[in-house]
Amino acid sequence: MLCPCGSTLSFNACCQVFITQKQPPCTAEQLMRSRFSAYAIKDGQYIFNTYGAAQQLNQSVGEIQSWADECLWLALVIHESEKNTVEFSAYYIVDNTLCELREKSNFNLEQGLWRYIDGDITEHNEIAKIKRNETCPCNNYATAWSAKKDKKFKHCCGK
Ligand SMILES: [Zn+2]
Ligand SMILES: [Zn+2]
Repeated sequence: MLCPCGSTLSFNACCQVFITQKQPPCTAEQLMRSRFSAYAIKDGQYIFNTYGAAQQLNQSVGEIQSWADECLWLALVIHESEKNTVEFSAYYIVDNTLCELREKSNFNLEQGLWRYIDGDITEHNEIAKIKRNETCPCNNYATAWSAKKDKKFKHCCGK
């Protein structure tokens, strides 16, 4: 399986080592990518664990989990990556609607580990309603990890 973060590496050579806590991410971008991958594989606990300590007080694993479960996480595009910030677009499908969430996220090191603090959402759009017989929209994203070439939505991500 390809890593959901769009690195083109296999999952077990990329974000899986972070999600299974074999090793910690070395950069904010690695943490950001692994959080997207955790959404994609619906690991709410990892997403919770990688919030900053103060932010964890306002989160619940259950809420994170239901948001992760509700959506099909198609693709991640990184626009800009600096030491403590990453700007990205996450593409996902919910209720047969393709959506883009663009965010500039802030990260900090806490006790030597990268943590997600917060972010400014600059776009949150519905791109299109997807019909079951259309070519699956994952084909439009070079970084889509689930793409099955030219399959219809109902035979690909809409299954
Ligand atoms: Zn990855
Ligand atoms: Zn698809």
